Amino acid sequence: MDFRFSEQEEKLRLQVRQFCEEEPPESFPCEIEDEGYGFGGWSRAFTTRLGQKGWLSISWPQEYGGMGRTVMERFVVAEELAYHRAPQYGHLFGDAVAAGLLTHGTEAQKKDFLPKLARAEILFSTGLSEPGAGSDLLNTATRAIKSGDDYILNGQKIWPTGAHLAEWSLILARTDPEAPKSRGLSTFLVDVRSPGVTVNPIIDMAGAESFTEIFLEDVRVPRENLLGQENRGLPLVFECLEGDRFWGRCLRHAGSRKDLEELVEYTTQTRYNGRSLLDDQVLRDQLAEIAIELEVSRMINYKAAWLMNQGASLSWESSVVKTFADELGQRIAAIGLQVLGPEIQLQDDPKWAALRKRFTFLYNFNRGLSLAGGTSEIQRNTIAMRGLGLPRS
Ligand SMILES: Cc1cc2nc3c(=O)[nH]c(=O)nc-3n(C[C@H](O)[C@H](O)[C@H](O)COP(=O)(O)OP(=O)(O)OC[C@H]3O[C@@H](n4cnc5c(N)ncnc54)[C@H](O)[C@@H]3O)c2cc1C
Repeated sequence: MDFRFSEQEEKLRLQVRQFCEEEPPESFPCEIEDEGYGFGGWSRAFTTRLGQKGWLSISWPQEYGGMGRTVMERFVVAEELAYHRAPQYGHLFGDAVAAGLLTHGTEAQKKDFLPKLARAEILFSTGLSEPGAGSDLLNTATRAIKSGDDYILNGQKIWPTGAHLAEWSLILARTDPEAPKSRGLSTFLVDVRSPGVTVNPIIDMAGAESFTEIFLEDVRVPRENLLGQENRGLPLVFECLEGDRFWGRCLRHAGSRKDLEELVEYTTQTRYNGRSLLDDQVLRDQLAEIAIELEVSRMINYKAAWLMNQGASLSWESSVVKTFADELGQRIAAIGLQVLGPEIQLQDDPKWAALRKRFTFLYNFNRGLSLAGGTSEIQRNTIAMRGLGLPRS
């Protein structure tokens, strides 16, 4: 077993590190702050800069704007960026759509969309969930009806992340209401600036404005924007979600390492009631617990990245990555608040105020991570069935 990265991968990592030192990610404007997924916030300006360096499309074929390099190199870049809390929100989810385009797109779609995604000229959201269809996408009610060379879409999507910042959305809609529920769905590449599309941001309980609702009223979508085969949208979406679960969560170990370092720094520098926090055995144990779990997360993520690098499909492994990352994020936020304690509210130091603000936000926002992209219960069902071979319950 060799856990080392190759010389080429390490060289690339150094380039990313140097880039983050020369162009600090925090100096770029951010539209959505870091919500604790592990991959930083959403910044169009920073994403554009990554596009200029070719780092949004490292592993895509060169003819579609990629660099033709490996998935592991893509992972190494993302991992190093995550440690520097660089914003990767907008494009990591776009990766799932790009994967769908690469596998199921027509030549025209690949040539049109992928180079633009690679340069960050466009960003995608994923419009799957509806008020009556979340875990069970079979209940999708949004309709797409053929009309000449177009489809006319009507319906409502809820929770798409970043649809108010992205130009495009991958929309799941019912094209054949007579077919069995799983056979009558199709996926469309929808320009959300089209007439009939309304996107409203939704403010969540942490005060963030990162997800949205999309209303589709007689939206004309050209036939050439059907992604994959008509009525075969559901397997395509499940495939995209596999990638989404991995890329959306595979950076927990890198992103949260900074959080741990900052909690250790706080513990080392703080005295309360005349005693150093370092003397508190419970706090020490809690910090050690985070260190253990981040190491476990790192190994799980490396294994999944390695599998993808071999060209394997992730199947249930992406559910393992996601479930562990999301629940670990919640544990870190809770432990962080305990370490900081109520007394931090009495301190004037702006540095610690920023830390308290961050952990309060993470504590509230991270409740939603184990829902986003498929709930932990659904992930456990997948692991039980695909990983352990248990029958459907
Ligand atoms: C922060 C955030 C970002 C999101 N981003 C997007 C996005 O970009 N695009 C998008 O389309 N959607 C997005 N979503 C929506 C998300 O995918 C759904 O919330 C999720 O799939 C659950 O669906 P639901 O909310 O309808 O809950 P439901 O499906 O109604 O589930 C309710 C509860 O029942 C449980 N449950 C349901 N079925 C089962 C079962 N078979 N076995 C065991 N338990 C079950 C669930 O685990 C859950 O606890 C986002 C959600 C959040 C919180």
